[in-house]
Amino acid sequence: MTLAINAVYHGFKVLQAQFVDEISSQAYIMEHIKSGAHLLYLANDDDNKVFSISFRTPPADDTGVAHILEHSSLCGSRKYPLKEPFVDLVKGSLNTFLNAMTFPDKTMYPVASRNDKDFHNLMDVYLDAVFYPSFYQNRYTLRQEGWHYNLDSLDGKLSYNGVVYNEMKGVYSSPDAYLENEAMKALFPDNCYRFESGGYPDAIPQLTQEKFEQFHKTYYSPENS
Ligand SMILES: [Zn+2]
Repeated sequence: MTLAINAVYHGFKVLQAQFVDEISSQAYIMEHIKSGAHLLYLANDDDNKVFSISFRTPPADDTGVAHILEHSSLCGSRKYPLKEPFVDLVKGSLNTFLNAMTFPDKTMYPVASRNDKDFHNLMDVYLDAVFYPSFYQNRYTLRQEGWHYNLDSLDGKLSYNGVVYNEMKGVYSSPDAYLENEAMKALFPDNCYRFESGGYPDAIPQLTQEKFEQFHKTYYSPENS
């Protein structure tokens, strides 16, 4: 099916159309009229259907808020109030790709499947996850995925724990990571690339529930996708 310039399909207006030889795909740039969401549609013969929603998420500090948000979005949502929908999808879906990634300036949520029904289900779970996450109600999500205090016994040593906190401690156990972080700070002293979007272990405990929610409200909107 060929889409016509300026025509509207399911609320999306076609702004630009071009064939891309390198990937044998007809590309369309579209805009959702109601929300302002941008859509890049690549039509081709591949039976692997792929969908990804991505947001511009430039960090303003080293707390890893974008990374912790990426983890936390997939910890239950309005329509899918499960503990870990992501883990259940990995086990039960026919997906050929399922993940989420945080970059220095954006966050991506890609899914793929060769089964049409499964593909639509994956899209629905992911879209509900990014726009209606449960972490506004469940304040344990940030503590689990980000950071919390840990005390094994009353006279034990108080320490930090958390999924992303531990993950980033692993990353910064390598001297290369320190070197890269210092290089980024020196190269980009006045923009978002000087920050560690994944979270710098010493800075992660500065993230509060309020700052966390504010980041989601600021960047997880259709017009920023
Ligand atoms: Zn992670």
